[in-house]
Amino acid sequence: MEIKSSCLVIADISGYTRFVMLHTTSLLHAETIITDLLEAVIAQSEHPLTIAKLEGDAVFLYATVEGDQRVATRNVLKQVTEFFDAFRTKERALIGCNTCGCPACRSIDKLHLKAVLHYGDVVIKKVGQFLELAGENVILVHRLLKNSITIKNYILMTDTYYQLSGGLEGERVESRTENAEGMGDVSVKVYYLREKIPLPAPAPARIPEPGTESTILYERMNDYAYRRLSGLEPRRKFSSLPDTKLTRLSRLDYAIGRLIPQIIATLSRVFAKKH
Ligand SMILES: [Zn+2]
Repeated sequence: MEIKSSCLVIADISGYTRFVMLHTTSLLHAETIITDLLEAVIAQSEHPLTIAKLEGDAVFLYATVEGDQRVATRNVLKQVTEFFDAFRTKERALIGCNTCGCPACRSIDKLHLKAVLHYGDVVIKKVGQFLELAGENVILVHRLLKNSITIKNYILMTDTYYQLSGGLEGERVESRTENAEGMGDVSVKVYYLREKIPLPAPAPARIPEPGTESTILYERMNDYAYRRLSGLEPRRKFSSLPDTKLTRLSRLDYAIGRLIPQIIATLSRVFAKKH
């Protein structure tokens, strides 16, 4: 066990409404979409930023700091801004090629990314072959994820982190006070990262043409869904999605829910062409 000064980061994806989670198809597709987006974010992280814990829709990362705190906090902040670029690029790609008609696939644009940053001492313990982070600062960064901000896509950092890193150059910053449950009020700085280019129009709902990006995604989603429905794939911890028990009925629900929106969309297109 050792105590180390560290940059702490949580990146979290959420935004789906209850409507999206009502049916098996939509729920399983929501899981695939969030996983894809989170993987794109994680792929951007590089040394010294390391994954401490990975959940379905959030990742907790840290970077221990031995040298200059300012250089270290600036480097981590730069990586976090790149998370947002990676998130948006993946979001655009998914919207552009997803031809499924279910509510989750039709509302990818509702998803958003938020990141919370803090700097402080943490206790690092070795548990088996893994390292586990603990201490008040670890709790604080997690508690700040629940806050009063209603705007999508933002970086929230504690004043401690802001003062060390100097914040984001040229971006407007908001000073706020957030209540970290059980830990009192915390002064924070928030950057709202607004989308500069509008998101693309969603791909039309239909059964995709063979050999296209859409088919690859369609098949991958089906594959994940069948592995989940047959119990081969355990559910990762998605805190923004319900942990619905999958039964035999869910398989039927999936098969119907997968096809009906596509059939309706295809028929209405054929019908519209004829008239
Ligand atoms: Zn779908």
